Amino acid sequence: MGLLVVKFGGSSVATIEKIKSIADKVAAMQAEGNQVVVVVSAMGDTTDELIGLAGATGDQAWHREMDMLLATGEQQSAALLAMTLNNRGTPAVSLTGWQAGIHSDDTHSKARIVSIANGRILQELKQGNVVVIAGFQGLSPQGDITTLGRGGSDTTAVALAASLSADRCIIFTDVDGVYTADPRIVPDAHKMSMVSYEEMLEMASLGAVVMQPRAVECAMHSQVEVEVRHSFKNDAGTLITEVDKMEKQRVVSGVAHDTNVARIAIFDVPDRPGVASLLFNKLAQQGINVDMVIQSAMRENRNDIAFTIEKADLNKAIPVVEEVVRELGASGLSYDADVAKVSIVGAGMQSHPGVAAKMFEALAEEGINIHMISTSEIRISCLIDEDLINKAVRALHAKYDLGNGNGGCC
Ligand code: ADP
Ligand code: ASP
Ligand code: MG
Repeated sequence: MGLLVVKFGGSSVATIEKIKSIADKVAAMQAEGNQVVVVVSAMGDTTDELIGLAGATGDQAWHREMDMLLATGEQQSAALLAMTLNNRGTPAVSLTGWQAGIHSDDTHSKARIVSIANGRILQELKQGNVVVIAGFQGLSPQGDITTLGRGGSDTTAVALAASLSADRCIIFTDVDGVYTADPRIVPDAHKMSMVSYEEMLEMASLGAVVMQPRAVECAMHSQVEVEVRHSFKNDAGTLITEVDKMEKQRVVSGVAHDTNVARIAIFDVPDRPGVASLLFNKLAQQGINVDMVIQSAMRENRNDIAFTIEKADLNKAIPVVEEVVRELGASGLSYDADVAKVSIVGAGMQSHPGVAAKMFEALAEEGINIHMISTSEIRISCLIDEDLINKAVRALHAKYDLGNGNGGCC
């Protein structure tokens, strides 16, 4: 018994039949004596469809209007779930993000939750209602609707669990937990019973879409334990928790991949202070995030600089980089959207030599060329050709023997 915050993703609310099945699950939670707050995503591919409609209106991205449009997706599923619950005799009320008191900053399409005034939610719970909240949305200081970035309903759920001091936060989705790699690509991927906040944050940031990175960050800061479970199966899921609660630190705990990557290179840049600062400041001013960066060894006082960005930002980045090339007298640029990033993640790798060598060996054995490499204490990422990404994920998963739950001993 307690206060539960549970979230159901888009595929779990894709049809009225699925919504009915979820309503039964939620009603059972309440019947056991729990207070239940449900966060929902938009039905199925609604968000993508709305983005498509917006694109058909013309070239320019009107961020404020886009958020106004996209927020309607979650509003539909919240209302439909509340109706279904009421129709089966379970009192429920749906709330938009702003009715639920979710305040964000004003970065349209990538807003961050800054506070939650949870009075209305508590009042509805006290009256015996299941409270169904539209995920992925907030209200800016200017009073405009914002959205929290793709996958943002995860963050809504975790932030609500923190604000309400919930007893449990469960992310119900279309997989029964967090796996050692995307189970759609690696059929023998192993479900982890526990994963540390740090590892999950790296996995999520490196492309494991099962949790939005912001949600993991929020869970880590608020010390909210999050369970990831299947919406329609009763199997035990994965607990995202503190590292010291885990039975052992794995050397390599998982393989993540991200195909939403593009690479840009600038050639023959003068070797002097301020060059990188000029380039990356100009990109930052356009709201373009840079991920991997390499600078080649200097020759005749000239360098090459290559870096990666999100694919969607490529068209915006090219004119910025062309301007920098002219300003610096560099000899030119090249870009490539057919690349992808494959990464290994593991909290124990910092104390085990040879982990990187093994990664490069696995890729070499498959004849996969590495374009760029970046590392942190608990991950190594390689940029490769996009059409080889599935092969790379499977090869690394096998190399570190992750399928048997051993945790990638080196
Ligand atoms: P939802 O609509 O419920 O938010 P998502 O599609 O956002 O669901 O996330 C679930 C998907 O995440 C799974 O279908 C799976 O393909 C993908 N995924 C990627 N990496 C992993 C991983 N390491 N473990 C589990 N799922 C993963
Ligand atoms: N509907 C939004 C998306 O598709 C938010 C979410 O599902 O979490 O990204
Ligand atoms: Mg998701």
